[in-house]
Amino acid sequence: MDKKNIDWSNLGFAYVQTDKRYVANYKDGNWDDGCLTEDATITITECAGVLQYAQTCFEGLKAYTTVDGKIVCFRPDMNAARMADSCRGLEMPVFPEDRFVEAVVEVVKANKDWVPPYGSGASLYLRPFMFGSNAVIGVKPATEYQFRIFATPVGPYFKGGVKPLTLRISDLDRAAPKGTGNIKAGLNYAMSLRNIVDAHNCGYDENVYVDSATRTFIEETGGANIIFVTKDGKLVTPKSDTILPSITRRSLMQVAEQYLGMEVEQREIKLSEIDQFAECGLCGTAAVISPVGKIVDHGKEITFAGMGPVIQKLYDTLRGIQMGEIEGPDGWIKVIE
Ligand SMILES: *Cc1c(COP(=O)(O)O)cnc(C)c1O
Repeated sequence: MDKKNIDWSNLGFAYVQTDKRYVANYKDGNWDDGCLTEDATITITECAGVLQYAQTCFEGLKAYTTVDGKIVCFRPDMNAARMADSCRGLEMPVFPEDRFVEAVVEVVKANKDWVPPYGSGASLYLRPFMFGSNAVIGVKPATEYQFRIFATPVGPYFKGGVKPLTLRISDLDRAAPKGTGNIKAGLNYAMSLRNIVDAHNCGYDENVYVDSATRTFIEETGGANIIFVTKDGKLVTPKSDTILPSITRRSLMQVAEQYLGMEVEQREIKLSEIDQFAECGLCGTAAVISPVGKIVDHGKEITFAGMGPVIQKLYDTLRGIQMGEIEGPDGWIKVIE
């Protein structure tokens, strides 16, 4: 087998069908053995739980090549655990966490020619997901489910250099106070699409959501957690039960404390205090950190340093750990081969 003939550095972020994907089915209270398949299509009843009542959740992680030529994934056990939480939140059966990690490994191995080389900035994006597959017309959970993981190569996030983002404070809400904001459910994205399209039409890169109960505290954007850096170099990130617990953000908090000796604080952050921060960034698997240049709150412009010195250092350190250039905490790098 040979590496695919792809211009890795110029790849974008769009679905490209790869060779193999993993499929397991749940029926009569049990998961089957699961297997790899070349079939990238799914045939389900028109009345499937996922189609009628949006019973689906997903994960996202990357496989890539480290400096010493190993194919690895970053903390897949964290994705497994978070997906288990998402399943519990949607009354879906949990796919066992150890099998989740094994399936990730299988999919990467089966598509290893699609794993970009070190230094390209590209990676093989993995998308585990699960959905209710049998007919459900009365409102209740499905009794049959499918768990799948497909892989698709994606290009470097900061192609053509880092452009600091311009965000707006959203007037619409993402997550109800005791709702589903803390799980990775497709429904959280479905209801954010209108707002993100509107944000783009208005010239913004993303919406910053505030807590929907009081509209006082910063939460996150549609698909990324938010971090701030104080003028004296402390990392501050919002504490809220309705934020999706980003693995990148949690890793950055640990990196800040253990590698950079920074003070880290997770607390409620008032919208009215964000003009006190020096730097701001969005974090998620896709970019690690995207620097924020500006947040617009109904005409009031709050500016940040963009790729400021602290965000740069956090980015470089976590990227260095991911790429095998810096020794990471135990268990962070899952070597596939
Ligand atoms: C997936 C996701 C993130 C980022 O999580 P990572 O584990 O860092 O990729 C942040 N916010 C939302 C709403 C998400 O769905």
